[in-house]
Amino acid sequence: MRFSKLRLTGFKSFVDPTDLVISDGLTGVVGPNGCGKSNLLEALRWVMGENRPKSMRGGGMEDVIFAGANSRGARNFAEVSLQIDNTERLAPSGFNESDNLEIVRRITRDVGSAYKANTKDVRARDVQMLFADASTGAHSPALVSQGQIAVLISAKPKARRRILEEAAGISGLYQRRHEAELKLKGTEANLLRVDDVIEQLA
Ligand code: ATP
Repeated sequence: MRFSKLRLTGFKSFVDPTDLVISDGLTGVVGPNGCGKSNLLEALRWVMGENRPKSMRGGGMEDVIFAGANSRGARNFAEVSLQIDNTERLAPSGFNESDNLEIVRRITRDVGSAYKANTKDVRARDVQMLFADASTGAHSPALVSQGQIAVLISAKPKARRRILEEAAGISGLYQRRHEAELKLKGTEANLLRVDDVIEQLA
């Protein structure tokens, strides 16, 4: 799976549709202060399912929508599309039917986020799992933002381990284990209730 293009529309400072073509190899983004370098990286995290406003440098998830500047009014929605070259067919099953995969996330004021994979509606969890399994998720160490190297050097062992797990592509397994544990707890609670009912009927 190789990211080939990122398109931002109404996302933070990118009010007009803007394409970032991602070539092979390492990509660095340079430019003057405040030109939107970090916003680009945040768009990439966001389309991969990032849901923590803090890591998007905002107070709420709707803060990613263009809020207006100079003569341009605020927008009602933000959309980010990520095109992925899947000619090597490395995408996890369920997303692996074609050579090109496009993931789109759109947030509309007072409505919330919706995701699409090749124009089909999908859940946030499906998109998060897709990228976690491909070890390129929203917390991937492949996305190096300002100050992150210093954070990595001074991180506690537990936090550093999480970064290694993300790089190894096993963070999706933790999520699945967590979900399985919740289901197990729910089933145990249901069984207790069934026991009570049986006792009352006996
Ligand atoms: P630096 O090098 O100083 O870190 P940068 O190139 O990383 O800067 P960003 O932090 O990506 O720049 O962009 C900051 C700009 O984005 C600011 O001008 C800010 O006003 C603008 N911005 C952030 N959120 C929004 C929003 N929701 N609507 C409009 N503009 C926004």
